[in-house]
Amino acid sequence: VLKVEDVRKEFVLGSHRQTVLKGVNIEVLSGEFVALAGPSGSGKSTLLNLIGCLDVPDGGSIEIDGVEVGRLSAKEQARIRREKIGFVFQNFNLLPVLTAAENVEYPLTLLKVSAAERKERVRKALDVVGLTEHMHKRPTEMSGGQQQRVAIARALVTEPTVILADEPTSHLDQENSEIVVRLMQRLSREEGVTFLFTTHDPGVMAEASRVIRLRDGLIDAGAASEAAAASAVDGN
Ligand code: ATP
Ligand code: MG
Repeated sequence: VLKVEDVRKEFVLGSHRQTVLKGVNIEVLSGEFVALAGPSGSGKSTLLNLIGCLDVPDGGSIEIDGVEVGRLSAKEQARIRREKIGFVFQNFNLLPVLTAAENVEYPLTLLKVSAAERKERVRKALDVVGLTEHMHKRPTEMSGGQQQRVAIARALVTEPTVILADEPTSHLDQENSEIVVRLMQRLSREEGVTFLFTTHDPGVMAEASRVIRLRDGLIDAGAASEAAAASAVDGN
């Protein structure tokens, strides 16, 4: 569902030019639960922003559902974001004046879904994340873990091709972090939702169906070949 080929991105600040992504290739299949790891500053958020059509690459191609999204106009990008992508951020990014249910409903309003269908889909999404009884609370009335589950429900409700999550657990304590990761993992396994998420937490990486590592602007093939070498030594 997602194919990133030879993607390059550089940032220019005054006379300083920094190449952050130097030709990144990744492929994510439907229903996968993929972690994107790598040192701070290695370009994880930059890559998610490109895939999420929040920014445009300097080279290479990004295909979502077979559609090239790397060279779209701002208006076309906005449409892809609404229709194909769900976002989950580390600081939850819920609208503070809206209740949990209203936050989840919001992207459906943008998509002009009818009121009756919105109601049904919001009910289902809140049920899936286990927040039905908190649906009338505002973000300030919920714990961080609950807020992040609302954000996941909001990302899910439009049935996007892929949910992109940038450090979804980094502002949560251990217990809530586990709840949120298990929830995403269950959605991937049972509902076929596709996730690509960044994390620094080895415990969270351990739950992923696959870990991709970025290093020096490239996918770190070393990690994969080290694992292959280790299993060769084991005789597997
Ligand atoms: P972290 O793990 O700390 O979140 P990251 O892997 O997500 O790091 P990015 O945020 O993608 O890293 O940043 C990669 C590099 O690109 C950094 O050196 C950063 O300073 C630079 N960078 C990111 N966004 C911009 C921007 N808009 N303008 C200029 N430089 C940027
Ligand atoms: Mg980041």
